[in-house]
Amino acid sequence: MAGPVPTLGNPQNTIEILNKYRFVFQKKYGQNFLIDSHVLDKIIKAADITEEDYVVEIGPGIGTMTQYLASAAKGVAAIEIDRALIPILEDTLKDYNNVTIINEDVLKVDLRQLALEKNGGKPVKIVANLPYYITTPIIMGLFEKHVPLLSVTVMVQKEVADRMQAGPGTKDYGALSLAVQYYAMPYVAANVPPNCFMPRPGVGSAVIRFTAYEEPPVKAEDEGLLFAVIRASFNQRRKTLQNGLSHVPELGISKDITIQILREMGLSESIRGEAMTLEQFAEFTNRVIACRKI
Ligand code: SAM
Repeated sequence: MAGPVPTLGNPQNTIEILNKYRFVFQKKYGQNFLIDSHVLDKIIKAADITEEDYVVEIGPGIGTMTQYLASAAKGVAAIEIDRALIPILEDTLKDYNNVTIINEDVLKVDLRQLALEKNGGKPVKIVANLPYYITTPIIMGLFEKHVPLLSVTVMVQKEVADRMQAGPGTKDYGALSLAVQYYAMPYVAANVPPNCFMPRPGVGSAVIRFTAYEEPPVKAEDEGLLFAVIRASFNQRRKTLQNGLSHVPELGISKDITIQILREMGLSESIRGEAMTLEQFAEFTNRVIACRKI
């Protein structure tokens, strides 16, 4: 580690800081602070942070992981919504000269602009112990808004991590798996039990790392249509693709067209979305577009 040695990351020092500032946990912000240094080391390792990296941390809390990140990286921008945490962060991060604290809702921050200002537009690494109530909008927002990214390493609910890395034919596979796997390759780096946090969350957690693709692994002629087809296919899980799609008239994909394309692709007419790969969804959608042009 290049910077000062982190002082937080254990129950005693966390309680001391919380008491010093009479901090009151806000349930609505999903505040569960990490108190286990082994888990923090694992996150830094999974994120593969070096002195070359600029890191954006979402939800620094009292600055526990921020200390670890600031010691390992070139710079860190830490975005925290809770105003009550700002004086605490200014205190716990005072020995680090490479941290910018931003008091904002991350969903309202222009992260492309931030990467431009802080890292000359070069891709950044995102690291976070995410607030679980907005995990999906945060992750999908990073990908869909094309924030320049090398990787995203985040603590999420274990069940969400399972869904994000699931493949076809498994119970966890769904629209979320396909949405994230269009942009990045997921890898679950660690499972983390509730006793590593204060207060303890009611669910198990996992650290998942996404390595961003430079180009999506499939070619979609219309990303919007691809994702609309994927969503419609999983809206009613046990439905066949032809029934799922015809239930969403706005898509304008009739049963006859679906059957024709599935035949051309050599797939069963009664196939369900849960059996289809990302490549097959992309090919199906591209063929729908080709039919419309005729
Ligand atoms: N990183 C700290 C740690 O590991 O101990 C805290 C993690 S805690 C699970 C989530 C943090 O995200 C809290 O500090 C919470 O206040 C913050 N947060 C919640 N919603 C947010 C939002 N919309 N924008 C920025 N930060 C948010």
